[in-house]
Amino acid sequence: MTIVVTGSAGRIGSKVVQALLDRGEQVAGFDLRPLGLAHQSYREVVAPFDDRAAAGRALEGASAVLHLGAFMSWLAADADKLHRANVDGTRIILEAATAAKVGRIVFASSGEVYPENVPDYQPIDENHPLHPRSPYGLTKLLGEDLVRFTERTAGIPSVILRFSHTQDARELLDPGSFFSGPRFFLYPKIRQQEAFGNSAAVEALKRVDDGREALVLSRNENGRPFKMHITDTRDMVAGILLGLDHDKAVGEAFNLGATDPVDFADALPQMAAVTGLPLHTVDLPGAGVYYHASNGKIRDLLGYRPTWTIDRMIGEAAQAWTKTRA
Ligand code: NAD
Repeated sequence: MTIVVTGSAGRIGSKVVQALLDRGEQVAGFDLRPLGLAHQSYREVVAPFDDRAAAGRALEGASAVLHLGAFMSWLAADADKLHRANVDGTRIILEAATAAKVGRIVFASSGEVYPENVPDYQPIDENHPLHPRSPYGLTKLLGEDLVRFTERTAGIPSVILRFSHTQDARELLDPGSFFSGPRFFLYPKIRQQEAFGNSAAVEALKRVDDGREALVLSRNENGRPFKMHITDTRDMVAGILLGLDHDKAVGEAFNLGATDPVDFADALPQMAAVTGLPLHTVDLPGAGVYYHASNGKIRDLLGYRPTWTIDRMIGEAAQAWTKTRA
């Protein structure tokens, strides 16, 4: 029997594929892009999720599906693409999963279903109301509903994991990284805020620009440093496998992520120390990012134990930084 991993070429999916192969499973990937892995127990279907025939081929003979693939974008212009990939795509994958009579569905949702950055209360637990504010968060909530619908109507045991922000450790100090560039590095952050049309933020960032590559400690308009979870991909893989294996996971939704949020006022000086880059503090317009999501439920019920603290992640990122700059 085969375990299907969607998003198999992605940051998280590719590591899940490897972890499953390492424990001797047959694995099928399903992604727009090939993973580029030659392994006797691995096959893949390279196609969009809303291609029904491709979904049928991917799910053939499947015993479980880990639906980890999605399109991530916060640009208004991407709304149609988001819904095709994350809503239509999810519906078609779930229909193929039903036809294949899989024994388990694990779905990668997101903290954006709450959403984390505008919480009603903290720490955010799984009982927090679900009121997404971004089109991306909306597609994840619709995906959760599609999964629950499939569970109710086809009787397939299903697990929803609301993922924390997740990165490979080495991405933290990569200015070209989709996430870390705009989060921590001055020029990528300016470009991102320009793309969002946030002219006040662009102005604030340009004020500190002295012509050198730099790191940015982001604070809100009242000078409160940003705080959010940043979870290492390896800890996410461990949580996803618990969702696949554990009896008590069925029918549940869990926040999945690091135990403690990262205080940018602590992390950015460390990142500046290891890179030698100047660090600018920038007060950005608005309430900023400041949240703590609890992973208490998955710890208590499934025994989840993440091990990659931000200090460990920065340590590993520092080695990658030194190698690329050598
Ligand atoms: P990723 O972008 O590295 O991987 C996603 C994969 O999905 C990519 O390989 C991409 O090619 C594939 N994909 C996108 N649209 C597709 C389509 N229409 N058809 C087929 N394949 C398509 O992302 P990741 O960081 O590995 O995230 C994995 C999952 O976790 C996603 O569902 C994402 O929404 C969710 N998530 C991620 C984060 C995070 O911070 N990384 C946070 C919350 C939730």
